[in-house]
Amino acid sequence: MRALVKTAPGPGLELVEVPEPVCGPGQVKLRVLRAGLCGTDLHLEAWDDWAASTVRAPLTIGHEFYGEVVEVGADVTGVAVGDRASGEGHIVCGNCRNCRAGRRHVCINTVGLGVNTNGAFADYVVIPATNLWRQPEAIDPDLGAIFDPLGNATHTALQWPVVGEDVLITGAGPIGVMAAAIVRHAGAKHVVVSDLSDYRLGLAKAAGADLCVNVGSTRIADAQRDLGMREGFDIGLEMSGAPSAVTEMLANLNHGAKVAMLGLPKDPYPIDWGRVITHMITIKGIYGREMFETWYLMSSMLASSSVLADAIRSVITHRFAAQDWAQAFATARSGECGKVILDWS
Ligand code: NAD
Ligand code: ZN
Repeated sequence: MRALVKTAPGPGLELVEVPEPVCGPGQVKLRVLRAGLCGTDLHLEAWDDWAASTVRAPLTIGHEFYGEVVEVGADVTGVAVGDRASGEGHIVCGNCRNCRAGRRHVCINTVGLGVNTNGAFADYVVIPATNLWRQPEAIDPDLGAIFDPLGNATHTALQWPVVGEDVLITGAGPIGVMAAAIVRHAGAKHVVVSDLSDYRLGLAKAAGADLCVNVGSTRIADAQRDLGMREGFDIGLEMSGAPSAVTEMLANLNHGAKVAMLGLPKDPYPIDWGRVITHMITIKGIYGREMFETWYLMSSMLASSSVLADAIRSVITHRFAAQDWAQAFATARSGECGKVILDWS
């Protein structure tokens, strides 16, 4: 089969022929139809310090995907050949304290599909059957391919109740844009999104943000004034990984505000802890998706709201055939895009 592989340590990837993965007991094998490009894949291609310290080549990368079940391993129930499905990319151990308590998203032994084990940028992928999320037959395959980042957005956006609340989202990457659509759907009062890219802020606006702020030229305090806000944002969703975005967020929160942090910073950075303490701000780190409550909520929200489904689909701006992967990576790296999809069908 075809697979996009890190064949040796160092920058670059190769589309090569490799043996099909074997479907063992408790596993399912899928024919990949669509796959989404994530920032992680760009890091792996570029071979930065994180990639070099994490990956053992050869490795098939890719973890956002949608496909069709072609084989069901021994001891697997509730899945049939022909089922359409997405997959959770975090493979958990099932044995640690958190797993056994049902808190699989905080497993201490998480293995990343397409990072620590062969992934989904290939004609076929094998995953534990417990990682499968069956999808309705009618789902748009492109939408099915972005349930992983949609799950990051959902997990973060619904971390705190947002009904009637003023929400600030820092970062209008694909995940920030989807989070804007979700908090809008969930009943937020004002939804403000910041970024440094007008292109990306345009995507956030189209997905339902009330106000988009280019922090290269405008302060979030000005946005508050424009909206007639007097006390600061109640909820902050950090989706940029930029230290300056966190500083700007903290400066614009109400006392008692709640912050969910998804964006991954490159390095440790200082924070105004005095402000956090005296304003009694709650800050919570968010990793991955809750297995499988986040998945349930994604499916049920999309099934009940065509407005939300359209807003989420609008984040997909580019589609490439798998053999044009290099162009897809260049597009994703340019930042002049939302979500980029690879078509493996
Ligand atoms: P992305 O890199 O496409 O988007 C980040 C956006 O932040 C970019 O559009 C960038 O222009 C913007 N930005 C940069 N500096 C900013 C600033 N000072 N203020 C406001 N915006 C600024 O990433 P994405 O795929 O949308 O993911 C969002 C973040 O979440 C990334 O940091 C990613 O690494 C992280 N992430 C975390 C998890 C997790 O499980 N915690 C999972 C997936 C992604
Ligand atoms: Zn575990």
